[in-house]
Amino acid sequence: MKPAPFTYHAPEDAVEAVGLLAALGEEAKVIAGGQSLVPMLALRLAVFDHLVDLRRLTELRGVERRGTGLWIGAATTQAEVQRSAEVVRNVPLLARATPLIGHFQIRNRGTVGGSIAHADAAAEYPAVALALDAELETVSPRGWRTLPAAGFFTGMWSTALAPDELLTGITFPVRRPRSGFAVEEFARRSGDFAIAGAAVSVELDAGGRIHRCAIGLFGLGPTPLRASSAEKALAGRGADELPPGEVGRIALSEPESVPSDLHASADYRRHVGAVMVARAWQRAVKEANDA
Ligand SMILES: Cc1cc2nc3c(=O)[nH]c(=O)nc-3n(C[C@H](O)[C@H](O)[C@H](O)COP(=O)(O)OP(=O)(O)OC[C@H]3O[C@@H](n4cnc5c(N)ncnc54)[C@H](O)[C@@H]3O)c2cc1C
Repeated sequence: MKPAPFTYHAPEDAVEAVGLLAALGEEAKVIAGGQSLVPMLALRLAVFDHLVDLRRLTELRGVERRGTGLWIGAATTQAEVQRSAEVVRNVPLLARATPLIGHFQIRNRGTVGGSIAHADAAAEYPAVALALDAELETVSPRGWRTLPAAGFFTGMWSTALAPDELLTGITFPVRRPRSGFAVEEFARRSGDFAIAGAAVSVELDAGGRIHRCAIGLFGLGPTPLRASSAEKALAGRGADELPPGEVGRIALSEPESVPSDLHASADYRRHVGAVMVARAWQRAVKEANDA
């Protein structure tokens, strides 16, 4: 099938883009890399009369150090993130999650902002944004605002963005001393969306106790999730005090509605999810201990 006919718009800047979105209303949709939207249009799962393309919005591209954070423009491709030495050095969790996204052809066009705005519960970047407490910068005709990643993912494929609001950049905190990061996922084939995955970040204090930890879960609920009960159970403890298997068990006792589909039952996902958390926890703690 081919997409239903639409009018194509290529604004020159973000303010013009959100002006178009506001003027065209519900019949308009932003297109970035097109790696999620185009298949949906081609299958006619979605129909829009107008597409507003971000390709000319150079202000939405790039990787920049801003204070204690690393700002990544929303229209920066996943491949650009993968090639960025700044990302590897400063935001290792993002660097490690990127090669797990689809295949290189997809990463060549797919964008960071598109992945986060699309908010697929099984996608890597939304869980990484949650695990790192990233800040999401947006613009709409009402002005600019910054939203915390927590609270951004409001439901299945839905976010706190208004229909005429554009995600312009994401700021990830730069890694701190004595910290460790790991992402683990299980998928049927390399490049597939994860059946279950975990993105872990941990920071130890001078005494080797857990100062901060975050466990992002993907493929394990209607939205990407934080395993807050496990995080609470771990806070202030010695890094190796709880066995990784126990961390996984607590983390996966939390989600209320784990998906069940053709690929995996809810029970299977819960089991595999706990294993993914345990593995990621073990690797992140080792890195923090060694740092
Ligand atoms: C075969 C295949 C395998 C894939 N595997 C994975 C995988 O394993 N993991 C994974 O995470 N993803 C995977 N993807 C999806 C891929 O990562 C997409 O690139 C990503 O989900 C969307 O990014 P995009 O730039 O292509 O956005 P688009 O497809 O252009 O847009 C997606 C949605 O986000 C909105 N949007 C885009 N940018 C913005 C913005 N700046 N502000 C507001 N709204 C915006 C659009 O309106 C649309 O609703 C796969 C895709 C394919 C085709």
